Amino acid sequence: MTKWVYLFSEGSKEQKGLLGGKGANLAEMTKLGLPVPTGFTVTTEACLDYLSHQNQLTDEMKEQVTQAVETLSEKTGKRFGDLDQPLLVSVRSGSKFSMPGMMDTVLNLGLNDQTVAAIAKNSQDERFAYDCYRRLLQMFGDVVMGIDNQKFESRITALKKLHQLNYDNELTAEHWKTIVSEYKEIYRQAIQREFPQNPIEQLHLAIEAVFGSWNNARAKTYRRLHDISDDLGTAVNIQEMVFGNFGDSSGTGVVFSRNPSTGEPGLFGEYLINAQGEDVVAGVRTPKPIQVLAEELPEQFQQLQSILENLEKHYRDMQDVEFTIENGKLFILQTRNGKRTSKAALTILLDFFREGIITEEELIERIEAKDLEASLHPSFDETVISNRVPFLSGLAASPGAAVGAAYFTAEAATEAKARGEKVILVREETSPEDIEGIAVSEAVVTARGGMTSHAAVVARGMGICSVVGCEALTMEEDGGVVGKETIKEGTILSVDGTLGNVYFGEIPLEELTNTVALDELQSIWDQHAKFQVRANAETPKDIETAMALGATGIGLARTEHMFFERTRLLQFRRLILADTLDERLEVLKDLKDVQKQDFKSIYQAAGGKATTIRLLDPPLHEFLPKNNDECREVAKALNKSFNEVKRKSDNLAEVNPMLGFRGLRLGVAYPEIYRMQGEAIVEAASEVIKERGYEIQPEIMIPFTIDAQEFAKVRCSIETAIQDFLAVSNQKITYQIGTMIEIPRACLVADEIAKYADFFSFGTNDLTQMVLGLSRDDSPRIINQYGEAGIFEDDPFQVLDEHGVGAMMKIAIEKGRQTKPNLKIGICGEAAAHPKSLVFLNTLPINYISCSPFRIPQAKMTLAQYGV
Ligand code: ADP
Ligand code: MG
Ligand code: MG
Repeated sequence: MTKWVYLFSEGSKEQKGLLGGKGANLAEMTKLGLPVPTGFTVTTEACLDYLSHQNQLTDEMKEQVTQAVETLSEKTGKRFGDLDQPLLVSVRSGSKFSMPGMMDTVLNLGLNDQTVAAIAKNSQDERFAYDCYRRLLQMFGDVVMGIDNQKFESRITALKKLHQLNYDNELTAEHWKTIVSEYKEIYRQAIQREFPQNPIEQLHLAIEAVFGSWNNARAKTYRRLHDISDDLGTAVNIQEMVFGNFGDSSGTGVVFSRNPSTGEPGLFGEYLINAQGEDVVAGVRTPKPIQVLAEELPEQFQQLQSILENLEKHYRDMQDVEFTIENGKLFILQTRNGKRTSKAALTILLDFFREGIITEEELIERIEAKDLEASLHPSFDETVISNRVPFLSGLAASPGAAVGAAYFTAEAATEAKARGEKVILVREETSPEDIEGIAVSEAVVTARGGMTSHAAVVARGMGICSVVGCEALTMEEDGGVVGKETIKEGTILSVDGTLGNVYFGEIPLEELTNTVALDELQSIWDQHAKFQVRANAETPKDIETAMALGATGIGLARTEHMFFERTRLLQFRRLILADTLDERLEVLKDLKDVQKQDFKSIYQAAGGKATTIRLLDPPLHEFLPKNNDECREVAKALNKSFNEVKRKSDNLAEVNPMLGFRGLRLGVAYPEIYRMQGEAIVEAASEVIKERGYEIQPEIMIPFTIDAQEFAKVRCSIETAIQDFLAVSNQKITYQIGTMIEIPRACLVADEIAKYADFFSFGTNDLTQMVLGLSRDDSPRIINQYGEAGIFEDDPFQVLDEHGVGAMMKIAIEKGRQTKPNLKIGICGEAAAHPKSLVFLNTLPINYISCSPFRIPQAKMTLAQYGV
């Protein structure tokens, strides 16, 4: 016999698959001895069985449910339909993964025309009893019978209007009795039958409805958007009711063990006194912040606080808890790992580590790339924002900043997105139907709702910035109204979810936000990573960014970029068009001064960290005049004839410049250029050492080496110049002259090259291009084709080709270290930082990789994760 039903006392948190998340955690909390109303769970297996058997509960299931209800009666002393002590239960769905708002709950089940009287008598509160009954009729009608909820609500509205009342809680017992009989009439009209009076029949119908709701459209959409399998099914939890709507020492609320927006410690949440069930999330009344409970019901607040602390330690994660207080007694109705923003995720993990809740290894393993990524996301430019006044403010529900065009429905948002627009979804409030609209938006703004409203929770989960509860905003037929201002469809808005502000027009976004938590993580990662992560950067701004993002040094500062600036470009053209050595030397004298300044600012920005500067590696054609007009211009500027410039340019033009006169070829032909750069580097270093006291050991890198003798020759010429300078200025500076390894031949003769080179750095772009014989500029079409045909798993320019390029690198490393066992070896090239490449690189005995600044944190994190 299959076991379809588990008492809460029989399950545990490990059984999420079978009992659903809610059921497993209710069982776990029961086991921990927390005040959880008694109950049981009908399993997800029962759901799948039900769905595959024409939506029928089997007799076996019904029998087990009856048994469990019997046990519930023994434990609570209450029975279904009993006229003294009637048992009332909630029927709650819960699948393996939390699907907020996806499947609905029925409360107060077990009430009927008789038991409602017993409740009235026992509570000595007729109004309360009939309010509960009408809620059951309403929820049961909506969820189980599929009667439009609006039909019910409109009766309440009409009655309030009739008696000129504003709020539900002003309605009396007599009013609710009237509503109850009107509701029954709705049943008759809508489904041609009476509301079922038999509690066990109510229960069977409710279980069937929950099982059936696994396949409703909202649930399917949510699963599709979150990559959740359709084959899991949902469990049903049946639980004794407790009442938060029992007067002023009763209430209900939702509370997080830490702030889900910022991650700050301390309870965060909302509650309502004298309210039931979903009143808090439904936004009917405005809930109070949880801290107020410390004054209203201090004992219960204390108890809640200590329960949340314990739950957090037990689950080793931030908890999101639903609670109800009935007549001063606290009950916990649900706990789960709380959804949080990326910033909060990082902050919380770090705090857990500091508080000893998790180990350093767990800290490293649990950080997710997406959160790290998001913590590097933009915020608004502070100087601009300080001069702007928001036209609308609300609750800062989900941090971040975004700019886009306003749309008012999920459909309009989805269409606009499909047209390529950036969208801000602006709504009165959101509901599960809006999920797709939220998913395509940059930001969500709502007029109503609190920090735990649907819009807030979903936006936080998706990492979308959001401002909710903007009271000044009124939504009308064709747009939003804020005082005299209107938001029309397509109006450009800037939304700040961190501060809760909305502005008209576009505010520029700033690139880097919070790096505070990052600093601490960096040093932890560094201890577990097998090798270092340097940055590819040469402008002071990029170098500073790289340092802020944790670069351990600069692995590649390119020098050719510096020559594209107008006046320098001309100088450089003069250099390559010069006829004589003397003419070149003259140009080089000027260039050296500029270069020295370049290098000084590189060293200054690097703040004393290891820095590799690569000598000129331009495919020469990039600098040549492109057409006759440019030749004429250059001729004029350089005081040469058009014909001369034209002829020389044509002579230097190459059919395949990528394999042409570049890198060390240039160094061999014009040794004075590299000599000048070598001198400029060492002189710049010497000045920065004096000015700042850094210990700089210049690392000079020669690109595109083919051959050991070629390298030796040019190295010698650079070194002579450096030695001369050091001798004349009477200084001692340790420097290294190394080479890029980016040509297959260099890999194969690496033992020879290592005799002369102080370090190796693999240039994966050129190496990939040459090992595969695929031009990196022209190959995307081929690579796409190969991807589609299943020949390539990944683009080899993005994920290092382990079997080809990787094998070549292994040869070079082995040979290089044969000659120099301690040879420093790095890799510069974006592909190295890809998490997939790192799996392989982590097995190589290298000293560092080097990548663009924004990829550094994730690369370091990935390496640390491999390290623990
Ligand atoms: P959801 O998954 O949508 O949050 P729940 O099953 O948690 O749905 O139920 C929604 C709300 O109904 C709960 O937050 C709680 O306030 C109320 N509720 C559920 N079960 C009970 C119960 N046994 N007693 C009192 N209130 C309940
Ligand atoms: Mg719900
Ligand atoms: Mg819930």
